[in-house]
Amino acid sequence: LIDLVNITKSFDGQTVLDELNLYIRENEFLTLLGPSGCGKTTTLRILGGFETPDSGQVIFNGEDITKLPPNKRQLNTVFQKYALFSHMSIAENIAFGLKIKGKSKTYIQDKIKYALKLVNLEGFEDRSPDSLSGGQQQRIAIARAIVNEPKVLLLDEPLGALDLKLRQDMQYELIRLKNELGITFIYVTHDQEEALTMSDTIVVMNQGYIQQIGTPEKIYNEPENAFVADFIGDSN
Ligand code: ATP
Repeated sequence: LIDLVNITKSFDGQTVLDELNLYIRENEFLTLLGPSGCGKTTTLRILGGFETPDSGQVIFNGEDITKLPPNKRQLNTVFQKYALFSHMSIAENIAFGLKIKGKSKTYIQDKIKYALKLVNLEGFEDRSPDSLSGGQQQRIAIARAIVNEPKVLLLDEPLGALDLKLRQDMQYELIRLKNELGITFIYVTHDQEEALTMSDTIVVMNQGYIQQIGTPEKIYNEPENAFVADFIGDSN
């Protein structure tokens, strides 16, 4: 579905991604895993269109989208900071993007209902974001992304701010959502356990390079080099 071809990106003369190549299949849950600063977020931002690579291409369904702005891509991003508008109700928050697109009132109402049901927050339409827990706010952020019917959901450490119990609950919810929606999830985390639990494919990164790509079983049982072995071993 998505092909990253020879992606290179530097900031202030420091190379963050060095000729990165990655193929992402349709409907897979793919996780970019690695220590802080390895280039995960930069890769996700390039996929979402928030950053342009210095060289290389992003191919989506055979089309070169390297220079396409975020709102023209069939991808939606959920960041760690959920950034809901606090002066708007939950329904207004979810409807925001759809209103800009000029969708009808009934269409929007239906979508809000559908999305709230998917994230298990039925009846939350009139609540204010401030009255919600961190986990609930994160679910609303996901609902807001889903109503746009993206082909791909990009998630940057979406559970990073949540406590352990909530994080585990949300992990199961994300897996359920992925199965129900049948869309591609690209997920960024530095948490080995989270990656091993949720992913179809794990991409282990370090210092701008891909160290290994494989299923959780493969990565866990057959690390290809010392870095992967050490990094995955740290989760025990
Ligand atoms: P983390 O888990 O800490 O977010 P990461 O693996 O996602 O780390 P990136 O956020 O991609 O890593 O950052 C990789 C490197 O690029 C870091 O050294 C970071 O300081 C640098 N970097 C990222 N964005 C910028 C920017 N806009 N300007 C300058 N340097 C940047």
